[in-house]
Amino acid sequence: MLYCKNCKTYFDEPVMIFYSDKEIAFSTNKYVCPNCKEDEFVKADKCDRCGEFYVQKGPLCLKCKQELKKIIADFLKDFTYLEQEVMLDSV
Ligand SMILES: [Zn+2]
Ligand SMILES: [Zn+2]
Repeated sequence: MLYCKNCKTYFDEPVMIFYSDKEIAFSTNKYVCPNCKEDEFVKADKCDRCGEFYVQKGPLCLKCKQELKKIIADFLKDFTYLEQEVMLDSV
């Protein structure tokens, strides 16, 4: 899956267009976003947790990362600071 930073849409395959620059007499085939025809796209990953596509680094999307942080914070608040240290140390 790919994500276009220009029009903020996800798509499977870029489309190939014939690109030519008259000023430097240069032409080539180039891959662009099928929606806006710009080449501002990056690879998007599928989140292991919710199945949504995202472009942030790491195995989970930002939404899931925030949810997990909240779950961990909720879980940890029942423990003392020392217990938390020991737990986080062993991860
Ligand atoms: Zn686009
Ligand atoms: Zn997710």
